[in-house]
Amino acid sequence: MNAHDSERLAGLLDEAGYLPAAEGETPDVVVFNTCAVRENAAGRLYGNLGHLLPQKKQGMQIAVGGCLAQMERTKIIQRAPWVDVVYGTHNMASLPALLERARVRNEAQAEFAETLETFPSLLPARRRSPYSAWVAISVGCNNTCTFCIVPSLRGKERDRRPGDILGEIRALVADGVLEVTLLGQNVNSYGAEFGDRKAFGALLRSCGEIEGLERVRFTSPHPRDFTDDVIDAMAETANVMPSLHMPLQSGSDAVLKAMRRAYRRDRYLAILDRVRARIPDAAITTDIIVGFPGETDQDFEDTLDLVCRAQFAGAFTFRYSIRPGTPAAAMDSQVPASVVQERYERLVALVEETTHAENQKLTGATVEVLVAEGEGRKDAATHRMSGRARDNRLVHFTPRSAAPPGGPVPQADVPRSGGTGPRGAAAPRPGDIVTTTVTRAAPHYLLADAAPLAVRRTRAGDAWEATAAAPSPARSSAPARSSAPARSAAVPARSAAVPVLLGLPARPPSGS
Ligand code: SF4
Repeated sequence: MNAHDSERLAGLLDEAGYLPAAEGETPDVVVFNTCAVRENAAGRLYGNLGHLLPQKKQGMQIAVGGCLAQMERTKIIQRAPWVDVVYGTHNMASLPALLERARVRNEAQAEFAETLETFPSLLPARRRSPYSAWVAISVGCNNTCTFCIVPSLRGKERDRRPGDILGEIRALVADGVLEVTLLGQNVNSYGAEFGDRKAFGALLRSCGEIEGLERVRFTSPHPRDFTDDVIDAMAETANVMPSLHMPLQSGSDAVLKAMRRAYRRDRYLAILDRVRARIPDAAITTDIIVGFPGETDQDFEDTLDLVCRAQFAGAFTFRYSIRPGTPAAAMDSQVPASVVQERYERLVALVEETTHAENQKLTGATVEVLVAEGEGRKDAATHRMSGRARDNRLVHFTPRSAAPPGGPVPQADVPRSGGTGPRGAAAPRPGDIVTTTVTRAAPHYLLADAAPLAVRRTRAGDAWEATAAAPSPARSSAPARSSAPARSAAVPARSAAVPVLLGLPARPPSGS
């Protein structure tokens, strides 16, 4: 959700006439989009604010928004009086006006609404990817998991109308997007606000009718609300991908009860069975917390047992630690940190063993990879490219057939900006689809070092190529689009070097 919000913040600033800061340039404005779910979020925010103080003296404006801002409110300005703007989770749309007011009045501005007035999806966006997009279907959450701060900071669930969502997806597809991920804290309760309990399954089926939309994903579902009509919609809609991120949190019924998670391990495992019966190639991933207050050795063994049975393709594992403001923070029987650590290490080892075994089953299989930018940190060194298979597994692949046995692909064959390589074959570009063969598996990824079987150039690849070829909109090379002064802002952008945002893990666990 934070990644989606960051795209909206960048779009808002674009529309207000701000320009992305060029690499190496000190920006005029820095916006922190904070996440209170992450460990020690406040400590890291104040640390980052402290680091910016010297530049602040040269006229920089600093804004802080997101969940942590909603939680800390004006305390941020008290602790860091050099901050110019603090705004709440429902006030994102006000950011440009608040920055302007702080500049004109030369005093800090703060704004916090208790309810959402403008759905973030109605705001302009600067999307990070021309081929893949987030689409919010709801915001907020009606659950009350005792470890989670989201409901108190994001409010009750608000659902977008299906027509608005589908209209946004059609517009994205017209821009070249091939893949959308439907986004909500609990996508399975989508429709509760307008009285249609089966709205999510119907939405998936409607996505299946959008021509040009090749991949549909969603996050996060909730085991309590996950119903068979959704499984049917997944199985019967060709562009809904065979992947499911189903947060478990604990394999112990006692701990699930203490977490106020309204399902039990048997129900969870039964859902996985039903999904696999209808979608045999489904890759199922999860979130697990260890060391929740009161978790006994037996509770933890129950979690390990469930992990053995569930055959997860991947898991985000978390050590429980106190999140101020949550009910669990006030529970006695907090588990000692050394015990949490020991359990965590055992869980991670088991998850790695399990996911490695699951991935190894795919050796020799043919996979269809949507080529992505930024998925393979070592791609430059290994001369591979990377992307996601239909089941969302990460695949690092050799893009050409020229690899000598055991050696790297010749440097000249590695595509950098798309187009046609020296041997005349079209090099895959981010956004293109590569069909290839898995040659090796690791716990977290697949390798495909055989010659690709096919490269399909797509509209998304064209869109990526056009974006890559466009001149940078940075201040040094283009005027601002509005009458506002040409100021640069540090916002999420395609360049990894652009500072400075909190709360943007590469694959954020999004609650539920
Ligand atoms: Fe809602 Fe998910 Fe947080 Fe539970 S963990 S309260 S379902 S956002």
